[in-house]
Amino acid sequence: MGGAHALAAPALAAARGTRYQSGMVMEEKLKAILEEVRAARGRVLALTGAGISAESGIPTFRGREGYWVVGSRNYVPQEMATKEMFDRRPDEVWRWYLYRFGVCRTAEPNAGHRALVTLEARLGERFTLVTQNIDGLHRRAGSKRVYTIHGDAAWVRCADECGLGRIDQPDMGRRDAATPFTREDRARLTCPRCGAWLRPHVLWFDECYDEENYSADSALRAAGAADLVLVVGTSGATNLPMQIGEIAFFRRIALVDVNPEENPFSELARRSPRGFHARGGACERLPGIVELLSA
Ligand SMILES: [Zn+2]
Repeated sequence: MGGAHALAAPALAAARGTRYQSGMVMEEKLKAILEEVRAARGRVLALTGAGISAESGIPTFRGREGYWVVGSRNYVPQEMATKEMFDRRPDEVWRWYLYRFGVCRTAEPNAGHRALVTLEARLGERFTLVTQNIDGLHRRAGSKRVYTIHGDAAWVRCADECGLGRIDQPDMGRRDAATPFTREDRARLTCPRCGAWLRPHVLWFDECYDEENYSADSALRAAGAADLVLVVGTSGATNLPMQIGEIAFFRRIALVDVNPEENPFSELARRSPRGFHARGGACERLPGIVELLSA
């Protein structure tokens, strides 16, 4: 870059907003919201969904990649991920999850996950992460203060709720969609306390949020106590995340939605006087947002 150009560039950036390494311009309203929260040493609640994991190559499993054939019928994910299906065909539900978990295991945390680790390191107890993702990527990236409101693939618990608590998922070896379910698998997935099936520690479509398994009350409390709710890559298809967005909206808590698409959170953010829809993906937008919030 030539001398004259180098002098002109900062003035141009100041006029349009701060330019970050990714080359994007931080919008003025977003900057003002983040700087206000930083100056007040505010509390931040980050809420993440499938979008941040998609950038690591994990599909949502709500579409075709989640379809599953049992006998002569093709099931959609909203039928597979149910207590009702598990009670009928625990072996097939497990086979489906072991295939999904195999996809998660080969994925790596991305710049979006890492930006939230940086934010936690700088804010300490002023930071809470609430995630809908069961893939464990936040944990593997190094996040500690995490509520996994839809569960975590790393754990199993007794399907009969005998009081075993959550334990590590047994090592089931390498799996793909074609791996058969064996007698040995059945033995590994047996509750050591009562002999019932072990189940994935995940919230199913026909089940309710609770505090004991999914920290639902803690997540809502953290939202109510926040000075900024930072929503990343979620479409608001499930109930508890939407409640968190509404708490932010109705209590006039600053609300920033990071998402390449329009969604119910971006709509709330647009209607809020202290809201902003930061259009884009987590890897592109979060590093700059974290710098402004905590540098
Ligand atoms: Zn048991």
